Amino acid sequence: MNTVGHLINGEVVLESKRTQDVFNPATGQVARQVALASSQTVEHAIATAEAAFPAWRDTPPIKRARIMFRFKELLEQNADAICKLIGEEHGKISHDAAGELQRGIENVEYACGIAELLKGEHSKNVGPNIDAWSEFQPLGVVAGITPFNFPVMVPLWMIPVAIAAGNCFILKPSERDPSSTLFIAQLLQEAGLPKGVLNVVNGDKEAVDILLRDTRIQAVSFVGSTPVAEYIYATATATAHGKRCQALGGAKNHAIVMPDADIDNAVNQLLGAAFGSSGERCMALSVAVAVGDAAADALIGKMKEAMKNLKVGAYTDSKNDFGPVITRQHQQKVVGYINSAEQQGATVVVDGREPNVAGYEEGFFVGGTLIDRVTPDMQSYKEEIFGPVLQVVRVNSMQEAMALIDKHEYGNGTCIFTRDGEAARYFSDNIKVGMVGINVPLPVPVAYHSFGGWKRSLFGDLHAYGPDGVRFYTRRKTVTQRWPSSGVREGVEFSMPTMK
Ligand code: NAD
Repeated sequence: MNTVGHLINGEVVLESKRTQDVFNPATGQVARQVALASSQTVEHAIATAEAAFPAWRDTPPIKRARIMFRFKELLEQNADAICKLIGEEHGKISHDAAGELQRGIENVEYACGIAELLKGEHSKNVGPNIDAWSEFQPLGVVAGITPFNFPVMVPLWMIPVAIAAGNCFILKPSERDPSSTLFIAQLLQEAGLPKGVLNVVNGDKEAVDILLRDTRIQAVSFVGSTPVAEYIYATATATAHGKRCQALGGAKNHAIVMPDADIDNAVNQLLGAAFGSSGERCMALSVAVAVGDAAADALIGKMKEAMKNLKVGAYTDSKNDFGPVITRQHQQKVVGYINSAEQQGATVVVDGREPNVAGYEEGFFVGGTLIDRVTPDMQSYKEEIFGPVLQVVRVNSMQEAMALIDKHEYGNGTCIFTRDGEAARYFSDNIKVGMVGINVPLPVPVAYHSFGGWKRSLFGDLHAYGPDGVRFYTRRKTVTQRWPSSGVREGVEFSMPTMK
């Protein structure tokens, strides 16, 4: 059985005694192994990246951008192979994997404009014959730690902007589906990236802890669950470790369904946003908050009908709507949340606990599940389920719906379905959530904006990718300059210099 290795100094190496199984979640069988980096492997990657940094930092941004152009072409040319690897280890259906890849490519396209993005700020004559400017310099060696649910897109939120800005990068991908990530890293080498600028270390907490503590690493970007995000942020930014950090965490995304909403449209949108990718998206809409019993009853009725057509199955059939969840353990966890909602008094309207996927009886499947009359005290409401489960909470007013959303510990994404522009404007203006959709169920910002939640969905000051990504991966330096040849000779001055 083959083992997924690490990419260090442009070469794939194994170098690891410890390995872990990688499953095909549709069959439930072990697909391959992944090497788990030891401290020596991580040290090797850090030293390699440090050695590559001076030449890469001094490479003109337009040349770095040309590598990004070639990388984009290679990602497009290899789309089928990438989607197949995502399908084999994550279980995502090919149309969904293609969407993930496309969203990743858009971040590469954004990084192609790095020469423009790095332009600084200039002021002439801030004093007599004195000019000042600010420039944005790369940080040095930076690291990224990514989750299983977007093995291609989330690494592409980080790597293109970071390296186009002149940094060297060490990526620690998810150990559950590492192959597509390693493959795109190899494509970046093929695009002409100098060896050592990007290194991939596969592994677990042992590798992560070294990246968090080693003072040669200047910044850490993390995307994953909230408990791990908190640990990452606290450790990386501790005074002794001295890093810049952005740590994106979990979510519980609510959609308000107003009494005036186009219910057929809301149902279509909710189907994709709740069940697409088996609900394993940090922007999945997992709670519908129906305002008034009429809206709730209409929503439940139409949803129940529409869910009869949901197709759950293996990634190999592109007609399927969504695939399995990532592991057997996670499947049991999702089923546990459905059980707990039922035990605490909610009504399971459509039950996906025992899906029948012919030919894939050992796969980690959960069918689309709809639960009505969920209340905020239920465990299934408070916690992130990360499965194909849509819960409906009934409220009496928009204010009640907004108070519910604001009170939740997570604040990643939210959406309102309405025909009322005034209500929509009030909602987007006041809701305490980082990414808002108005009749748009998955408001994932495009690559030239930035991605980030509020509250316990993001730790750090800056959002991911886009303009905030450029700021995160660069350090401002401000230079004030005067040349003696301008003839100015001032006397000794002990007071703070000002323009008199
Ligand atoms: P996870 O937190 O289990 O793992 C994420 C990464 O952290 C992996 O690389 C993993 O190896 C590493 N890791 C796990 N435990 C660790 C520990 N104790 N110490 C150090 N490193 C550790 O998350 P996951 O299950 O891979 O991904 C799903 C989660 O990610 C969900 O909560 C989802 O909402 C979240 N997510 C958030 C966003 C966002 O943008 N906010 C995007 C995608 C996923």
